This record gives sequence, C-alpha cells and structure tokens, in this order.
Amino acid sequence: MHACKIESGKTLSDSNLDYWVISYYHFVSFEKPEEEVARQKEFFARRDVKSRIYVSTQGINAQLSIHKKDAEGYVNWLSSRKEFEGVDFKIQYYSEHVFPRLTLKVRKELVALGVPVDMEKRGEYIQSEEWRKHLDSKDKDTIVLDVRNSYEWKLGYFEGAELFKCDTFKDFKESAKELKGRIDLHKTKVLMYCTGGIRCEIFSSLLKEEGIEKIYQLQGGVIRYGEEEKSKHWLGKLFVFDDRLSVPVSENETKVIGVCHHCSQNTERYYNCANMDCNELFLCCEKCLEEFYGCCKKECKTAKRVRPYKHAHKPFRKWYHYAKTKEELNTLNKKIEA
Ligand SMILES: [Zn+2]
Ligand SMILES: [Zn+2]
Repeated sequence: MHACKIESGKTLSDSNLDYWVISYYHFVSFEKPEEEVARQKEFFARRDVKSRIYVSTQGINAQLSIHKKDAEGYVNWLSSRKEFEGVDFKIQYYSEHVFPRLTLKVRKELVALGVPVDMEKRGEYIQSEEWRKHLDSKDKDTIVLDVRNSYEWKLGYFEGAELFKCDTFKDFKESAKELKGRIDLHKTKVLMYCTGGIRCEIFSSLLKEEGIEKIYQLQGGVIRYGEEEKSKHWLGKLFVFDDRLSVPVSENETKVIGVCHHCSQNTERYYNCANMDCNELFLCCEKCLEEFYGCCKKECKTAKRVRPYKHAHKPFRKWYHYAKTKEELNTLNKKIEA
C-alpha cells in the first residue's frame, strides 16, 4: 500500500504539469452517503476541481482532476479522516482538467450490477511485481482474466489475457459458467485485473461464490502496475474514463493493437460518434475521421444533430456546448427542426 500522507515539497511529482488526476475507491459503510457528498462539496467549494465521484452506502468511487495547488490538501484532508484510513490514491499528471464538470453524487451501487455482492469473499491481492513474475513464468495452471468492458480491451491488454465478459450480471453468469467448464475449480489460479482495481473487488467476490477457489486480483490495477513495472507484458494503451480516453501505461513503447473501426488500420484514438443521438465509442484513424465527419457509420453522417468533428480532440459534449452565443444556439436548434 502506498503511503497516503503527502508532505509539502516532497510530492510524488517529477513533473511541471498543473493538474493531478487522482483516482481512488474505498469500501466503507456510509450510513448517509448524502452527508459524505456534502462534506466533499464543501471542501471543493472555491477549489479548482472537476470530478466524477459516486458515493453509496457501501463506499466511494472517485476520479477527479484538481489543480496542483489544491491537490495535496485534498489527499491530506481525506487521509486525516478515520473513515478513509488506508485509502490507496493513484495519481497522474496532466496539463488541464480531464472532466467537463464537477460531478459528485449519491448512487445506489458503485459498480452497477443490480445484485448484492458479498465483499468479504474477494480474491487475494497480488502486487505488481508478483503479477509480472506470474506473466514471466507462463504457468500452465494459470488463467488471466480481463474484467473490463470490451471497448477498453480493444485498445490494450496483458499478453496472454482473455476478456471475461461481465458488462451485466447476465454476461457474468454466462462467462462464469463457461469458465467453470474448462478449469479445475480447486487448482487453477485465476488472475484478474482491471483499470484501477474496483471491478476486481466485485468480480473476484462473485467468482469465489461460484466455487472457484484460487482467485487473485492485481492490486491498484493496470494504473499502479504501469508505475511499478512499466509496460512489461502490456500491449497497446490503457482506456480511461475521462477526456484523455487513451493513455500510455508507462513511458515505454508498446505494440499498437487497436484498429480503426472503419478501415482496420492500426490506431489508438478513441472518439465518441459526432452524431449526438448515437454517441457510440469507436477507434478511428485520422483519414476515416475526416471521411465520416467524426461519425461511427454512414447513417450518422446525415443525422440531425451531428457535432462539428474538427473540435474532436476531446470527447464530444452535449449539443449546447457547440454554440458560443444564444443566437448560435437558436440557429443550431432551428437546423435540427428544419
Ligand atoms: Zn480508418
Ligand atoms: Zn454513430
């Protein structure tokens, strides 16, 4: 576990970038999650921060970008609170905010599955170094499962891993049944990873309930692995749920594995479809981006609400962002009605 307390002047940073991108999750019982939301809102008032933070009765899942002048204060404030003892913060640096706004709210579940999960049963943690050694050894009795979404997998994954489909609880049940049919429930070591660790907490618990005994989860996920073991055994880039969409796992070069959705050329650039009413995420090369006006398919090109793709260095936003003035917004809306 990384030390939480960050002393002034001794930051983790070796960089001059102005923003810290912080992610953490923590399972702790919040009787009234709305009170935690209020506490954090109060802390963020008058501070330079944008976020996507969800709080439930089970805990918190947080991602935020915060100006470096406020970042240490936030980490130290949380670390000083008893209910946040032992929280593992993952910190990256960036030149600007990576979220469009401050989202901080109560949610029923931290990872939406619609079923209760017994978190006492979760898999054993594996640290990055041990994980790397497992992949070095190519042990026959080991299976490596990626428990992220398929669009994350398309951009990058660990050598030898397989995608374990679990976007919904129904997917999970099917994947678990298939897996159980081809492994030894008592002997096979199941190694599981995700971006930052939270999905493994859920899916390792569920797989244990299914009777698989030896389950291990990469602590801190691919983000922490990249800090500690660089890109060893990693192919491609890492999908992240913010404006960056795609980030390198470390400063080391990796093989490109993503392919353009339109022409199958190698690419590592993700876009959301310029058609507001589609918004599909897809990998796209520069040439096809021009040709399809930033759209995922032909039909989207001629849809009513196509956002101007020239500004697509960031994910497309809601429709009204593309108007600078009220008059412009009216014109945009008239175009839709026309
Ligand atoms: Zn292409
Ligand atoms: Zn589309």
